[in-house]
Amino acid sequence: TLEGQAALVTGSTSGIGLAIATFLHRAGARVMLNGFGKPEEIAAARAAVGDAPHSPADMSKPAEVGAMVANAEAQFGRLDILVNNAGIQFVSPVEEFPPEKWDAIIAINLSSNFHAIAAALPGMKQRGHGRIINVASAHGLVASPFKTAYVAAKHGVVGLTKSVALEVAEENITCNAICPGFVRTPLAEAQVKPLAEKHGISEEAALKDHLLAKQPSKRWIEVDEVARMALWLVGPDSGGVNGAALSIDGGWLAA
Ligand code: NAD
Repeated sequence: TLEGQAALVTGSTSGIGLAIATFLHRAGARVMLNGFGKPEEIAAARAAVGDAPHSPADMSKPAEVGAMVANAEAQFGRLDILVNNAGIQFVSPVEEFPPEKWDAIIAINLSSNFHAIAAALPGMKQRGHGRIINVASAHGLVASPFKTAYVAAKHGVVGLTKSVALEVAEENITCNAICPGFVRTPLAEAQVKPLAEKHGISEEAALKDHLLAKQPSKRWIEVDEVARMALWLVGPDSGGVNGAALSIDGGWLAA
């Protein structure tokens, strides 16, 4: 049980982040949500997570990231669990990759993790307890073409995770990365249609022959599966796991 603990999950109005927030809430933690969306989507997310507070902080803005962490600590009086999950994707050949998309992906998918961790660690150290999870990707460990910014950012997240883990190793704080393969969320599903159009094939074929071709299980990972891994990582049985990049990818990294 996470009774008495407080958590902040970035990018939790949708997809993996919302699933993790929901599981943390069900396990007894108080949770602060973050992320974009229509007012009714944010209201639905809040309702699913026990009327959780929501921070509208933009993860591309370092000052907003720091203020969000301070706000969570102030509201809860503590912050035990930080899940850096917000992320975006953009697919393009490197020579046509819009520099502003590169900057946005590095800022949201990588630098926000640094800013949030830097803001959260002093309190975790003071209280002698902390669990940090960075949602990286299989693309934090191996590459695919046309995803230069995403692959660079996610490899960066894995490196950041290891370095932070070493810094806090003796303080009852862990910092680990989760590396999912293709997970059924709006972010991943949005890649199916453009692929189908590019190759002049059906969306079904694009999914099977291109996206899930990377994933030996040939099926989507579901958000709840990722959430259960996160729940284990913040629980009492995983204190010896630190600086790890844990794959949940249907065998992708084994190939
Ligand atoms: P999603 O699009 O369903 O959710 C992304 C969340 O991030 C949303 O809540 C969105 O509002 C939020 N967000 C985006 N930009 C933001 C910003 N500037 N500030 C604050 N919040 C912002 O995507 P998802 O698939 O659930 O992705 C979550 C994480 O998992 C991402 O880091 C992604 O890279 C990673 N991931 C996803 C997959 C996959 O196949 N879906 C695989 C590996 C890793």
